[in-house]
Amino acid sequence: MKNFSELGIIEPILKSIEKVGYTTPTQVQEESIPLILQGRDIIAGAATGSGKTLAFASAIIEKAFPGKGIQAIVLTPTRELAIQVSEEIMRFAEFKQLTITAIYGGVSISPQMDALPNTDVVVGTPGRVLDHLSRGTMDLSKVKVFVLDEADRMLDMGFIEDVESILSACPKKRQTLLYSATISTYIYGLAEKYMDNPAKVAVDSYVDPSLLTQVYYQVAPNQKFSLLVHFLKKEVRGLVMVFCNTQRATDFVAKNLNKQGIEAIPIHGGLSQARRSHTLERFNSGKALVLVCTDVAARGLHIEGVTHVYNYDIPKEAKQYVHRIGRTARAGEEGIAISLLTEHDYDNFNRVLSNHDLNIERMDTPQVERVHMETMKREGFSGRGRGGFSQNRGPRRGYGGRGRGNGNGSGYSSGNGNSSGSGYRGSSGSGTSGNQVNYN
Ligand code: ADP
Ligand code: MG
Repeated sequence: MKNFSELGIIEPILKSIEKVGYTTPTQVQEESIPLILQGRDIIAGAATGSGKTLAFASAIIEKAFPGKGIQAIVLTPTRELAIQVSEEIMRFAEFKQLTITAIYGGVSISPQMDALPNTDVVVGTPGRVLDHLSRGTMDLSKVKVFVLDEADRMLDMGFIEDVESILSACPKKRQTLLYSATISTYIYGLAEKYMDNPAKVAVDSYVDPSLLTQVYYQVAPNQKFSLLVHFLKKEVRGLVMVFCNTQRATDFVAKNLNKQGIEAIPIHGGLSQARRSHTLERFNSGKALVLVCTDVAARGLHIEGVTHVYNYDIPKEAKQYVHRIGRTARAGEEGIAISLLTEHDYDNFNRVLSNHDLNIERMDTPQVERVHMETMKREGFSGRGRGGFSQNRGPRRGYGGRGRGNGNGSGYSSGNGNSSGSGYRGSSGSGTSGNQVNYN
């Protein structure tokens, strides 16, 4: 393992690194920084939390000088990430006196216009950057380094055309760095078009497996929320993220947790920028313990000290699962990812398992006290057939046997109605993939 100065990082950055207290480079830093400092274009695949920011910041800070126009631009998919990345670059640029400006939507444009003429480095979201370009308030003709952060997410969010327009506004002769948690053929296509013989750096271990525990629990639909409450009341040591698939579910879960006396705050794209920033501040300062969020809102954010990640819904794509679990077990800390599965989640869960080499251990579901909650009506969720699934592993637990037995409606309605749905089909263990799971 090398130390930072052996990677070729310049003195002013080394001073900041020492001040910040990093002792050894992460894997993606060790592998990409020497290439970056040689001026190569880079495609780097490395998960959330692997330390990508410092890798590209080292090129930006080396090449940019105060007062020479916008010499570097970093594009990020979300506003929160733009703020975070700009702050991170600022930390490492302290001894080079660069002016770094975060450019994102949802806030007034005029302060940004005032700041841009004196800006050396822009970190921004594509929409607002394009806005400035079309108003003529941002000049990218001096750009030497172009960074696309979280490129896969950028594609998912439909920013690709915006990104291409911004690339076209930069000089042809530049260094282009592309960072992504997952590398798809589409990303290679983009690279083909806009990059010059890029070096590829892939760091495959997205989490430290020895530090991350992944488990799942099977639970009846009307017990899922109660199980979450049970865990949150008992096990909370640090900060918790609870992932849901929709904004509605996010609001629903957060609201009902609060009714249970668990301080939970929702974060999703439907909330105003001010609200989201405020929410994150509270979370970062450790005042609130539970953050209930959608994938979009959580993506790419670094929140310190997340000990538990709950999947209240299982995401449709394996990629999202990987991103979610990447929120914990970061920077040498232990973490646990807990998936709560009802029959509605099996299709998604199987997809997650078949796409990745993941070790997710099944746990016995504890008997929990049924808690009261409001009903969330969900279209298309009633009456999905149970397919080949039988929940007959061992004696059926006496759910609700000692519950308070309030006769209230309970979240997802299940089982009634038409059963023509695409319920879990069991796949009867013939699995072509070693990761397929039978739920029996
Ligand atoms: P990514 O962009 O890959 O998701 P970040 O650049 O946000 O990751 O880094 C994740 C966290 O790890 C940040 O808190 C960052 O300050 C920290 N970090 C980065 N590099 C190191 C290092 N070499 N040693 C210790 N911590 C680091
Ligand atoms: Mg990042």
